[in-house]
Amino acid sequence: MSLLSLRDQLRSGSVTPSGLLDDLAGKIVSRDPEIGAYLSHDLAAAKAEAASVDLSLPLGGIPIAIKDNMNVLGQPCTCGSKFLSENYTSPYDATVIRKLRAAGAIPFGRLNMDEFAMGSATENSALQITRNPHDLDRIPGGSSGGSAAAVASGTAFAALGSDTGGSIRQPASHCGIVGLKPSYGRVSRFGLVAFASSLDQIGPMTQTVEDAALLLGAIAGYDPQDSTSLDRPVPDYLATLNDGVKGLKIGLPKEYFGDGIDPGVRELVMAAANKLAAAGAELVEISLPHTEYAVATYYVIAPAEASSNLSRFDGIRYGHRAANPTDLLDLYRRSREEGFGPEVKRRIILGTYVLSSGYHDAYYTKAQKVRTLIRRDFETAFETVDAVLSPVAPTPARKLGESAHDPLREYLSDIFTLAANLAGNCAISVPCGKVGQLPVGVQILGPHFGEAKLLQIAKAVEG
Ligand code: GLN
Repeated sequence: MSLLSLRDQLRSGSVTPSGLLDDLAGKIVSRDPEIGAYLSHDLAAAKAEAASVDLSLPLGGIPIAIKDNMNVLGQPCTCGSKFLSENYTSPYDATVIRKLRAAGAIPFGRLNMDEFAMGSATENSALQITRNPHDLDRIPGGSSGGSAAAVASGTAFAALGSDTGGSIRQPASHCGIVGLKPSYGRVSRFGLVAFASSLDQIGPMTQTVEDAALLLGAIAGYDPQDSTSLDRPVPDYLATLNDGVKGLKIGLPKEYFGDGIDPGVRELVMAAANKLAAAGAELVEISLPHTEYAVATYYVIAPAEASSNLSRFDGIRYGHRAANPTDLLDLYRRSREEGFGPEVKRRIILGTYVLSSGYHDAYYTKAQKVRTLIRRDFETAFETVDAVLSPVAPTPARKLGESAHDPLREYLSDIFTLAANLAGNCAISVPCGKVGQLPVGVQILGPHFGEAKLLQIAKAVEG
């Protein structure tokens, strides 16, 4: 059931907010044990909130599930990590949560994720496995795998995810739902546990493009508590949603359709492009020449920022604390050794290395320069096209455990999603068909703050 139809039903009185919550809690009990999307939920607290909700608000009475890296006052916020799963309770609401509540939504349920959002399969969660609802032997994608699996299995009407290098779009693609990464600065990051601060964005994960437009409208906007959020008006994303694609130019980057893409994925993505052409858009081949450097650039910059952001987890201020330390250094060392999983440690080591004296210029500064080139590729492209179309991921969801010990292979599979974060653009994944029983999404990328047109094009793909 879409958010807009839920809203109509709530307003007409045919369902109540508390009834909806009971319904979801029932579905979580019956369906989630085999999926594993939820880490926790608090039905009583949600019902107490629902009792006084104003149904005339844009999301009045609608429960929204939250990736477990956004703070919700009084609730756990584990980030999929042992570090925060023992004794951390959020002391405040993230700005997106404040905005959801102001729009009448009820934050309900905490969704599994790769530890500190590092991963593409949710297999790096230290807490549990999440399965793809379309094939229980397969990954849901990641890092917002819990969010995607919950929406796809009907245990959430919509969810929030976070995207640093593809973590909203790739699981949306693998689970057959819509996932939107807003432009950098469109949505406040205050209260999102930081992974890589210059790349992170929070965005909607929904059943339909219309729902994504509605939810983005609720969470977007300037926030004085996040100095990287921009003070620009939030358009009514629903108003232009059905304006069609007649006369729009859609760029197909030749670098995104080369070797290594599953033929079934390529066929579906091209079918989506042809659908836009049939609806009046013009397809043009473009070049994003620095695409081949995106993976290397991202995997220098993101770990560098992570190594700095994660230094706050020291056993003193938050979460896990090692028992019986011999001295302060021992406390720091063992708390981090015991609290972090292997992928997080790998990123901290990589990040510390590329920032260390003697290597900083060769790796970190160099990566920042290449990042500028990648951003310019998009700026040049958007001088001639309205949007860029590409695959989200080179293949459909792989089997659980298949490349669990092969981080390089995992990193390489992020090739199509990383550039949007490096450039700061907006990008969306929209379902475009299935290979066998496995859903595939097409990615549409738009210029900075171009969400309205992006959603309009996405709507035309969805049909
Ligand atoms: N897969 C990428 C990584 O592991 C992106 C993750 C994300 O967007 N949070 O860094």
